[in-house]
Amino acid sequence: MKTPVLDQIIDRPQRPAAKERKKPRRSLERFLEEEIHTDSGLFSFKGHEPLLFIVRLIERLIVDRVCDARVAIAKAEQIGFSTLAIGVALWAVAELGYNVGYFFPDDKMASEFGAARFNPTIERSLFLAGRMKDAGVDRGVLKELGDGKYLYLKGLNTLKGAIANPQDLQLLDEFDKIPANVARWTKGRMTHSKLRLAIRFSAPYADGAGIHKSFDDGSQRRFLVKCMACGRADICLEESFPDCMQVFNGTWVRVCPECHKKLDIVGKGEWVATHPEREKDGLYSFRISAISLGAIDANLIMKDYLGAVESGDPDEMAIFDRSKRAFPNAGAMQPIGDVELRRMERDYVLKLARTSHPIFFGVDAGNACWFWAEEFLPDGTRRLVWAEKMNSDSWVERVTTLIEKLQPRFGVIDKKPLLTDSRKLAYRFPKNVALLDFANNHELTMVEEQLVEEDTIGGAQNPRGPKYLCVKFDRDAALAKFCAESTHPDHGLLLPNERSRTMQLVGDHLKNLRKVPKKSAAGNELHRFIDGVENHFGMAGMSAVLARLVAPSIQPFAFFPIDDAIDIAGDDDFRDLGRGGFV
Ligand SMILES: [Zn+2]
Repeated sequence: MKTPVLDQIIDRPQRPAAKERKKPRRSLERFLEEEIHTDSGLFSFKGHEPLLFIVRLIERLIVDRVCDARVAIAKAEQIGFSTLAIGVALWAVAELGYNVGYFFPDDKMASEFGAARFNPTIERSLFLAGRMKDAGVDRGVLKELGDGKYLYLKGLNTLKGAIANPQDLQLLDEFDKIPANVARWTKGRMTHSKLRLAIRFSAPYADGAGIHKSFDDGSQRRFLVKCMACGRADICLEESFPDCMQVFNGTWVRVCPECHKKLDIVGKGEWVATHPEREKDGLYSFRISAISLGAIDANLIMKDYLGAVESGDPDEMAIFDRSKRAFPNAGAMQPIGDVELRRMERDYVLKLARTSHPIFFGVDAGNACWFWAEEFLPDGTRRLVWAEKMNSDSWVERVTTLIEKLQPRFGVIDKKPLLTDSRKLAYRFPKNVALLDFANNHELTMVEEQLVEEDTIGGAQNPRGPKYLCVKFDRDAALAKFCAESTHPDHGLLLPNERSRTMQLVGDHLKNLRKVPKKSAAGNELHRFIDGVENHFGMAGMSAVLARLVAPSIQPFAFFPIDDAIDIAGDDDFRDLGRGGFV
């Protein structure tokens, strides 16, 4: 492997003068090889050569005190990275006197990892065992390694898990299982440090979230191999898989996908950044697959891969992608990912105009409002015609304008949280708008509702104002329906391939229609669509699908200026709307 040119990638103006830097007695590399014992002997870079570059980078960031750097590592599983991370944590405490936080998604994982991994590592090293103090040990998760410097092993399932102790360096293991708000919050624990280095690592779970988003936001270093036979220089094994695997004499080996000659992945590989400029801002990111590590037997990789292919189960392939290729693949837990989005793209642009086929729209309302309108083609294909983010102060007027321009057959708008505004739109377009109210386990239904006011004296419930339509449905069922329709192989959703900010957000939001396991009241594990993420266009698109499903089959367009809306309450035609062709 080429010698890494670290001076070029660590180049920051706030670097302290040499005398202010902390000098370790031993380099991190030597410390790992001398003090970190694994079950099969001392730690070694043999077969794990690509990790050496990352180790040297982390060492330089710490020794040179490059403040506020972040190293994000999207990694395959079972590649020895945890051993390395343990070594980094112990080296920083024992050799440099930093306070280190090693975080897990929850306390149980933290104490189990402490008992199974940290304790034996310390006990097997005379140096570390000798520095270990018994004082202040908290359920085996707090370790003092001399001079009042601490290593904290903590779970982040509750915010209080990380409150008490200031830290200089944080390692966040299983980063994809740590809730985003908690991961952001941990940074506050390093406010008083002069180092403030965060190292996050995880197998990537979902596309566009967690460690994969951190990888995307960073320098995106990939391990590229050069083929000495044909000269191709940019072979990324996990990307060209399975074309980079071939059988020779009954055994699988890594080959050039171009000329199929054997590759020298140790001697001819190097880390190449897609966005090297981001390293000046301290945003380093790496992707390490099992395929680029010589220690991982190619036969075992292919056994797993062929097993996943044979099973035909997308979740089996998802596990393979995450654990061996270090590719995000949430399987059925993330119905819409980059692959699905590319498949939806067609050559057209969004246009604010009527179309020859009926248009249905949906609005996700909140701090901002998100509008989605789609054309429904005769073969069942849906085509996005307009998407817009709008200010919630002026959204009623803006949605009115969009409805007048698009002349949709029907639309569904969130009833909450902007209840008064949403009702205004329902009054204004009584034949073409219904409000949406999620109800757990509820069948898809549309009912008539009316504002009810309670008397201040006596407490009588008085209906007031015109009636409006309200759709009730289970949130998970609605999102599942939207995702299934959108990814249908023959008549799925179509999106314009324009590279606009709006389409970027549409893609990001669709990818965020992810599911997470949740325990039901009865203790069963259910998969629920995650809440509280940036998924607004996805929610609006789901409402557009509901609008089509509940819309009466023939629906003339009708607009009532808002002041006249009150008069239509007695209109028979309006009252009949609730008995159309739906449940
Ligand atoms: Zn080649």
